[in-house]
Amino acid sequence: MDASEKLYGESSKLSPGGVSSPVRAFKPHPLFIRGGSGCRMTDVDGREYIDLCMAYGPLITGHAHPEVMEAARRQMERGTVYGAPSEPELALLRRIHEEVPSAEMVRLAVSGTEATMHAIRTARGVTGRDDIVKMNGGFHGAHDSALVKAGSGSADGVPSSKGVLADTARHTFTAEYNDIGSMAAILEDRDIACVIMEPILGNVGLVPPADGYLRDVRRLTEKHGAILIFDEVITGFRASSGGAQKRYGVTPDMTTMAKIIGGGFAGAAFMGRKDIMENVAPQGPVYAAGTLAGNPVSAAAGLAQIDIMCRDDNYAKLERRTSELAGTIRDSMRDRGIPGCVNTVASMFAVYFGPEEVTNGTQAESADRDMFARMFRYMLDHGVYLPPSALEVDFMSVAHDEEAVSKLEEAFKGFFAEVKG
Ligand SMILES: *Cc1c(COP(=O)(O)O)cnc(C)c1O
Repeated sequence: MDASEKLYGESSKLSPGGVSSPVRAFKPHPLFIRGGSGCRMTDVDGREYIDLCMAYGPLITGHAHPEVMEAARRQMERGTVYGAPSEPELALLRRIHEEVPSAEMVRLAVSGTEATMHAIRTARGVTGRDDIVKMNGGFHGAHDSALVKAGSGSADGVPSSKGVLADTARHTFTAEYNDIGSMAAILEDRDIACVIMEPILGNVGLVPPADGYLRDVRRLTEKHGAILIFDEVITGFRASSGGAQKRYGVTPDMTTMAKIIGGGFAGAAFMGRKDIMENVAPQGPVYAAGTLAGNPVSAAAGLAQIDIMCRDDNYAKLERRTSELAGTIRDSMRDRGIPGCVNTVASMFAVYFGPEEVTNGTQAESADRDMFARMFRYMLDHGVYLPPSALEVDFMSVAHDEEAVSKLEEAFKGFFAEVKG
């Protein structure tokens, strides 16, 4: 029995499924990680992996980047939390305001779940409307208004988790991504407080917006007085320095961020137009609060990551490297006659087995999960740590150097050869 298996035996008795978040579980048992450096992680048995999961998105500068560690350490020496405003918070607010088109005013929070929950509450509070719209396949954290899926054959919401009230779920309607007609049908039918959407779907693999789609969404929400919230928890400071909204030139009314802006610590934000954000407590009547909100260590580390990314053409370089890797994977699949496709934007990509193209949540769900599980196992055995669940994004970082990329290419090619030898 190896060390991970032994530790898992104990953790699964103490914690449900032995993990702190369900996506981390896999069969026969998850690996316990002892350390990370750059693009690599080492498990408790001393095995090293090139990491393509990267903690599901926060680590765009890699594990333990010296500058990020130094910024956090410097702040920690002065204390870790004050329950009062601090300069690192202000520095992060300033930076977000400068880079993100929709960020006239910003409120810091702790997690993406919390940021999206507060943003939805704000939209409801401002509009006085109850109903909201999300995308099929969109993910907005683990809170009740978001843990909702479409009922069979309709846009009406039903709980996607036990414990979510049917009474809550029925206020969340589901549209198909990249299909403006499906959103228009809902907005014409009822008064919608907000449309909350990932501008690039990132929790069913990776699905980019079709040309003009986000502009159509912007026009439609404006027409109906619905607040448009871009959930940029993944894409904030990932799709570009100003998120997907800057990349595609479409400015929402509100935006949520987490992951990268926390610098590998717990950190998040929701932001938007001044006349909307002024409604948040204590300035306005919509309540939002958090003991660790705007934590100075998270803010210092997040800011350090943003600084690194915004210099030396780092976004462009990282995108080039990612698109080359994704291209190699795509070509290699095609050469072996393996059906499927590879989607990529900026420093993210996703491999789907089966469908020729994936442009929405329904197509993404049709991908072959058994093939993914086989690939995951093969990659692990060949020193590559993919996100363990199918339909997650592969994340690159500036620490993925040429040597790592050629090892990744070799591993993917090896798997395709094994499948179709
Ligand atoms: C990860 C994620 C969240 C939830 O963020 P947490 O920090 O895990 O609570 C919300 N929205 C999107 C798009 C995400 O990818």
